[in-house]
Amino acid sequence: MKLSSKIQEISPSATLSITAKAKQLKSQGIKVIAFAAGEPDFDTPEFIKQKAKEALDKGLTKYTPTAGIPELKQAICEKLKKENNLEYTPEEVLVSCGAKHSIFNAIMALVDDGDEVLLPKPYWVSYPEMIKFARGKIIEIPTNERTNFKIKADQLKEYITPKTKLLILNYPSNPTGMMYTKQELQEIANVLVENQIYCISDEIYEKLVYDGLEFVSIASLNSEIKKLTITVNGLSKCCSMTGWRVGYACGPKEIIQAMGNLQDHSTSNITTFVQYASVDAIKYAEESIKKMVEEFKKRRDYIVEEINKIPELSVIKPQGAFYVWVNISKLKGKKYNNQIITDSMKLSELLLTEARVSVIPGCVFGDDDYIRLSYAISLQDIKEGLDNIKKFIETIR
Ligand code: PMP
Ligand code: GLU
Repeated sequence: MKLSSKIQEISPSATLSITAKAKQLKSQGIKVIAFAAGEPDFDTPEFIKQKAKEALDKGLTKYTPTAGIPELKQAICEKLKKENNLEYTPEEVLVSCGAKHSIFNAIMALVDDGDEVLLPKPYWVSYPEMIKFARGKIIEIPTNERTNFKIKADQLKEYITPKTKLLILNYPSNPTGMMYTKQELQEIANVLVENQIYCISDEIYEKLVYDGLEFVSIASLNSEIKKLTITVNGLSKCCSMTGWRVGYACGPKEIIQAMGNLQDHSTSNITTFVQYASVDAIKYAEESIKKMVEEFKKRRDYIVEEINKIPELSVIKPQGAFYVWVNISKLKGKKYNNQIITDSMKLSELLLTEARVSVIPGCVFGDDDYIRLSYAISLQDIKEGLDNIKKFIETIR
């Protein structure tokens, strides 16, 4: 068999496969604490489910326009205006099968063979694969703990060449949980505008922000950066709707239309009755989100404090999302029985088999000195899982 060269370059999603593995062990009756989960553990709010049921009962089960029903696009435009200070018309909005699909469409619409795409590191696992699929060239911009894993405008300048087409920004970040301030975004935007570089701003964790920090959409800073930005968001994380597959992109009309053309010939519209339920999710989920954020904050504070008590581990308190990015460099080279902890993958494997906890190795996000733990699990599970991790680490020499 000869698969296409394009597809041969794509690896499976480690976040999805590790999460699936943990769920499989659980179904076999083996207790695994799943710190790998990339989705909220809360149920989708009842009123959203109810709307989907009503839409089904009304027979809203046929094709819709690819880009989404007018009511949903209108609700998205109103949300963007009210919450993000962004004015878009419905023609500048495309609803897709999750934010992942929106990002894929945007990369396909913008990136040509050999175009350079700037990718702050650590990055979410799917970005590099999508860039490769578009035949773009990945240009990683390294970050570190000193800068809270954020790129700086001056640093960005150093990576720009005549072939630079696009920057992918994601804040709050998966995996680090870090946020950019308005000032930092302004400086980054200035560099992008000066060099006419596009930006995909992945704002999927927008609502999961703690300590009263202000979330600012980069496209809202001025009309120049707005012309270059595709803002991506969705309902997966904020409304606990990961399986419903609702994402959207907004940006300049020509780009959104091009993305829509691709979607016309690949997936068409997202599930029709889900679109009707999404209108209400966008309009009325504020209370449910508030409760979820309060709970996540408690868990974040607990997990950060407890991890920092373990001498071999350290973590900077994240400002958003539901992940902690744990520095494991002190464990590398040490031994568990006769097995050397060579890298984050080896440590993750040992944590699964010996400590019965699943985590995501940092290597899949581009930095092997870390592992990612999600706190989208109950406080009780977090406590039990951290106990298991502590006990395991005590046996390491
Ligand atoms: N971007 C980031 C940074 C993510 O963590 C995720 C989670 N899967 C997505 C996009 C995609 O989310 P979804 O496709 O479920 O909307
Ligand atoms: N974004 C989540 C994660 O990083 C879900 C899995 C995925 O879509 O890759 O774990």
